[in-house]
Amino acid sequence: MNFRHIKNLVLAILLAAGSAVPLHVHARDAKAAEDLFTQAGKEIKISPEKTAETLAKLEELRPSFTTVQRDRHLLLSASVLGYRGRHKERVELVRANIDQVVDPDYRVRLLYQLSAGYTQLGEYENALVAMNQGILLLPKLTNQIAKMDTLQAAITLHNSLRAYDEAHAYSERLVEIGKEDEHTSVTCVGFADQVEINLLRGERQRARSMLPDAIKICEERGATVIVQILRSLAAIDLIDSGNYLQGKGAGIQLLSEFLEVNKSSDYRTQLEEALARAFLNTGNLEQAERYGLLAYQHAKSGNAVQLMEKTAETMAGIKRAQTQFGAALEYYEAALVLKNRVLDDQLHKNLAFQRVKFDTQDKSNQLNLLEQKNKILAVERELEKKNNQNLLLAIALVAAILVLLTLWLIKTLQQKNQFKEYSQTDGLTQASNRMHFMVSANEAFKMRSGSMSIILFDMDLFKNINDSYGHATGDWVLKSVSETVKTHLRKVDLFGRLGGEEFGICMPESTQASALQLAERCRMAIAMIDTAPSGHVFALSASFGVATVDSNGLTSFESTLEAADRALYSSKAEGRNCVNVFRQVA
Ligand code: GH3
Ligand code: MG
Ligand code: MG
Repeated sequence: MNFRHIKNLVLAILLAAGSAVPLHVHARDAKAAEDLFTQAGKEIKISPEKTAETLAKLEELRPSFTTVQRDRHLLLSASVLGYRGRHKERVELVRANIDQVVDPDYRVRLLYQLSAGYTQLGEYENALVAMNQGILLLPKLTNQIAKMDTLQAAITLHNSLRAYDEAHAYSERLVEIGKEDEHTSVTCVGFADQVEINLLRGERQRARSMLPDAIKICEERGATVIVQILRSLAAIDLIDSGNYLQGKGAGIQLLSEFLEVNKSSDYRTQLEEALARAFLNTGNLEQAERYGLLAYQHAKSGNAVQLMEKTAETMAGIKRAQTQFGAALEYYEAALVLKNRVLDDQLHKNLAFQRVKFDTQDKSNQLNLLEQKNKILAVERELEKKNNQNLLLAIALVAAILVLLTLWLIKTLQQKNQFKEYSQTDGLTQASNRMHFMVSANEAFKMRSGSMSIILFDMDLFKNINDSYGHATGDWVLKSVSETVKTHLRKVDLFGRLGGEEFGICMPESTQASALQLAERCRMAIAMIDTAPSGHVFALSASFGVATVDSNGLTSFESTLEAADRALYSSKAEGRNCVNVFRQVA
């Protein structure tokens, strides 16, 4: 149901019922005031401006007002401001005076004025707070219509917030309250609300199944306004579900019968919009446009943004069907702008709703709420526990993976190192292989700050050893020589097997004299190797060549290496088992 309806309904009933004659004022003034109040009550439906004038006249009689009249005046003034769209003033007026109003029946109506005013101003949070204050007063209300008014306001507001479950709960209370007095339209309104809520939340079947009963009850209670609304909803539902012919028939009939109060309602606009669609879908573009324009205009004057958006879209469709593409585009653009407004508005509403929801829930629901909260808390705690367990599990898993990864990494690194070593060392002698020796020696050559020497040596007549004692003995010799030479080297010296029975020593930061000294020492050490452990006793010797960089015109690594080789060749030539230093032949 729409706010305006209820306002009208309530005011009509309230004003008709509120004729308790104040006894303690001048009879003349009292009579005049009562007459004016009755007049205002009638005028408000026709002309808010006139009502405003009547209220101004009443203002003069204020000194003689009874408490009830003061409250009535306040309520009427707020309503008139609402009708005239002066919502800021409406809210201010109510806020300034509501504290004086003790009668709960009036208080809830004023709270409703406040809530509706705030809603119009887009201050949804305040609107909800005011509405909730009204709900809290429910148990104190004596007037059934006042209760309905309050609940209806809550339903309307919640529907606009799309909080359909809450709206439905309030509609159930309406039905309950309706049972207290079978003669009022409260039950009818409650059922009508439920039909509308079900349509709004997309439960068409449920809405349809409730419709006949709702209409019957409303007819029985003489609530023609609401019967018309329900029939409109049914016609719109027919059109929405593609029954254009039936929907059109019912809709057009209804429009012609609409009561004054329904003519200014959103239901009429909704029905016109649906009719426009029905005509569009059945190919009658002229009628489609007629209803579309009516709907658009009514939505606009009612400031119903959501309906404006819907109608603009329908009009765009109609214009497109009429091949008036320019006009169609304009409507589409208008619809888009409106849609953004609707969404923006919805967002604000929802935020407000979430903020206020738990703060100011109906007191009778609060225990329930607390229970629910406790349940939620328990569930949350359970969830948290599970989360923690999951977290622990996850941590354990990650830790296990990390350990595995680390182990794998260590193994891989070890393997890599091993491979590196394999690729750099000679398997038999454990000296550097040729490649590694060359690279390292070259590196040392580049890094050196002083001089650097290279010693090369080659086993003498090694072939004979192999031939005489076998290859294994030859191998043993190579290993023994390697071990022996190593014991004479410094840490910085590089030692490599360059091939067969030829070895190299690279001595960074060493003079030619110290290199010669080392070569001599190694030569003697080799000659002194006891070969008995190999199973054979024989003599061993090697020939040496020494070359030093920066002497004898040696500047490059390669030339130094070659020079050492030449010196070695000289040693071989001189009869083996001796050391030769390279000297440039002048
Ligand atoms: P020279 O004094 O002139 O150097 O005479 P040599 O016999 O040492 O020289 P030659 O180059 O004629 O012979 C080298 C021998 O070394 C030939 C080869 O079979 C042997 N040899 C090379 N590598 C290995 C090895 O790994 N193990 C064994 N047992 N012998 C090897
Ligand atoms: Mg040799
Ligand atoms: Mg050789």
